[in-house]
Amino acid sequence: MPDAALEDLYRDILLDHYRHPRHHGQIEDANHQADGSNPLCGDQITVQAKVGADGRIEDIAFTGNGCSISQASSSMMTVYVTGHTTDEALRAVKTFQQMMLTGEAPSSAEQDLGDIEALAGVAKFPVRVKCASLAWKTLEQALQSQQVVAQAPATVTTDERGVSDGGS
Ligand code: ZN
Repeated sequence: MPDAALEDLYRDILLDHYRHPRHHGQIEDANHQADGSNPLCGDQITVQAKVGADGRIEDIAFTGNGCSISQASSSMMTVYVTGHTTDEALRAVKTFQQMMLTGEAPSSAEQDLGDIEALAGVAKFPVRVKCASLAWKTLEQALQSQQVVAQAPATVTTDERGVSDGGS
């Protein structure tokens, strides 16, 4: 396939995800969440995930706004990681970041990112790399966070009580 046709194909994939984002919205019983922003471009995203006891991502969703690359990348990320384990998802984050450095789709020996490889060309535009990477960085942060919805509020309350007890 000539390069121009390939670029058209990639652009179609990106525009399709931008116009019809997958997994867009919120999850009622999410147990991981993180917010990400890319101030350079004004991209914002919140990623919520529901991870099962077996470490598998049962459901994932995102909300946010920003440029077409940031939102298309978010949509493609959620499609890819659904049903994968958190370990596999975190490995995909590394593979994606590597692709943003080299501009080359990962070799089959690494990890097949499918449609996401349409973003490889973004590596030529350093400012856009931040747009494309935002979803993946936010995913990484969400998965590495404690089960925020269930546990974080309790921890904060305990800390505050400890501080006020010491002061009085
Ligand atoms: Zn952007």
